[in-house]
Amino acid sequence: MADSILIQEDLVKLSAKVRPGETHSKKWIVIHETGNTSSTAGALNHAKFIKRLAEENQKYLSWHYTVDDTNIIRHIPDREIAWHAGDGRKSDGGNMSGIGIEICVNKNSNFQIAVKNATKLVASLMKKFNIDLSHIKQHHFFNGKNCPFTIRKYNFWDRFLSMCNAEFQLLR
Ligand SMILES: [Zn+2]
Repeated sequence: MADSILIQEDLVKLSAKVRPGETHSKKWIVIHETGNTSSTAGALNHAKFIKRLAEENQKYLSWHYTVDDTNIIRHIPDREIAWHAGDGRKSDGGNMSGIGIEICVNKNSNFQIAVKNATKLVASLMKKFNIDLSHIKQHHFFNGKNCPFTIRKYNFWDRFLSMCNAEFQLLR
């Protein structure tokens, strides 16, 4: 069956500190916001940014998807590990066992639609990996960072989860 949402795959190259290529079972979906409000900081430019990170291979920083109001881009295969949750190599932690999704907050992207797109992506991953709603987590859950900032600030998290659940129900 085809994905119910259109995901663009634009993978970064294997790179020890960005995409080590190590696979791990997946237990969590980890929600982030980019925190970058500059107008150009949409999903396409994040794809360029993470590819540059992989070229430079200087820091442990990566995530699986970036979502804005028009694009859902996969940078790293779902089953591989990535460095987004700030919990190192903790067993069953966010980096090792999570799929990291960055939601763009740039001015040129409609945040409401970006969030909606993210919930569709979450639903498709819930189905693909048999992950239930209790394993959809904020970045904050893993290391206390105030992320996803806007969703936390406006107490939108419960609503976000019910949107994910509704999208998931529609997939059946
Ligand atoms: Zn985060």
